[in-house]
Order: sequence, then structure tokens, then C-alpha cells
Amino acid sequence: MANSSAPLVAIIEDEAAIQKFLQASLQAESFRIAQASTVKEGLRLITQSHPTLVLLDLGLPDGDGIELIKAVRGWSTLPIIVLSARGEEQSKIDALDAGADDYLTKPFSVGELLARIRSTLRRSTRPPGENEDHTFQLGSIHGDLAKRQVFVDQQEVKLTKLEFDLLALLVRNRDRVLTHQYLLKEVWGPGSANEAHYVRVFMANLRKKLEKDPSRPKYFITEQGIGYRLRSQN
Ligand code: CA
Repeated sequence: MANSSAPLVAIIEDEAAIQKFLQASLQAESFRIAQASTVKEGLRLITQSHPTLVLLDLGLPDGDGIELIKAVRGWSTLPIIVLSARGEEQSKIDALDAGADDYLTKPFSVGELLARIRSTLRRSTRPPGENEDHTFQLGSIHGDLAKRQVFVDQQEVKLTKLEFDLLALLVRNRDRVLTHQYLLKEVWGPGSANEAHYVRVFMANLRKKLEKDPSRPKYFITEQGIGYRLRSQN
């Protein structure tokens, strides 16, 4: 049963069937929930009930969910997961750029929903300092960001400077989707915005050097049309 210390999830969604599905799925897992169905009600809900996490539909009757993200990011880092339809790649990218933490593509399963909520909450509640840990482990891959070393099965793997920069950025943001645009800006610099193929080529190199089966990557995951995600939970 939900109790007052359970995380409060704000559901901002206008479609009754999805509201119902979310409500039933989350209550079964003992989350507390609060609901709104417009941008205006959603903002009021967030300021008044201080949710732990927000599930946000992008197409709301009185406006775009992205406006709500921009407003909330003016004062809060509250985790926001966007609910978006298949084919709406650009609006997912816009939502991530506006500060959303992640997205789910409708229709999604209860399993996907809960996994996404858990990994977002895990990141947002990571104790201060833990982010600065410079060592990491992903199955048989481990490394040290400070020493700029990476190993597979204890064997050191040589990466180029840019390959390592890309790896380090993914490790620092593990389990989070990073857009092509963001990766380009952070690794190659602001002048490279139109060079999306750089990311594709370097990601292929990382897979070749670090994954057991580069054609079926376990860690370096493509988010079709959006970007990439380093998956730490396998
Ligand atoms: Ca809608």
C-alpha cells in the first residue's frame, strides 16, 4: 500500500486511457500519484504538491509539455520523463534539450515504465560526491576516468583521445539518453553541430573495442533518431 514516504509521481496527461494505465501500474508498485491534464493544472500541481518525479505528455489541450519543462527548469531539477508518440523524434529532442531527463515512447509496457522511473530516481537521488567517482564498471568493462584508462576482462584497451572523451561523457551520464547534438557539442565543440556522422563513427569504434558483440551492443545503445545511451543495468 502507498504510504506517505512513498515517492509521489505527478502524471500530467490528458488521455483517459493512459491516465488509467499509469495510475494502476504505479499504485500497484506503491507509488503515490497526483494527476493533472493541462499545462496550467500541471504547473499548479508541481508547485503545490512537490512531486518526486513527473510523467509528462507533450500534447496537452492548452499547450505543449515543453513549455512546462522550460518553466519548471527555471527553479527546479525535479526529474521529468516525457511521454511521447512514435515518430515524434524532434519533439523528444526538443524536450531533452529543454531539460527533460528521459522519455518513453507510447505505447510502452509497465516494465519499461518502472525501469525508466527507477533509473531516473536512482540518478536524481545519487548522494553528492558519488558522481565524482572516477572509476566505473560495466560488466567486463572497467576503467578510470582520471587516469584515462579502460579495460575489458583486465586487458587494457587503447582509445584515441576523442574516443575516450566520448566514453567519459557517456559514463558520467550513464543510463541517460544523450542527443546527437549534445554529444557533438560536448566532444567536438560548438562548431560541429551538423556533423552527426562523427558520433556514429566513434560510437562504432567504442562498440568494436569494448563490446563482446559489437553488432548487438549491450552497453552502447542507439536511441533511434535521438542519440545514444550507455546502459549500465543489464
Ligand atoms: Ca495528449
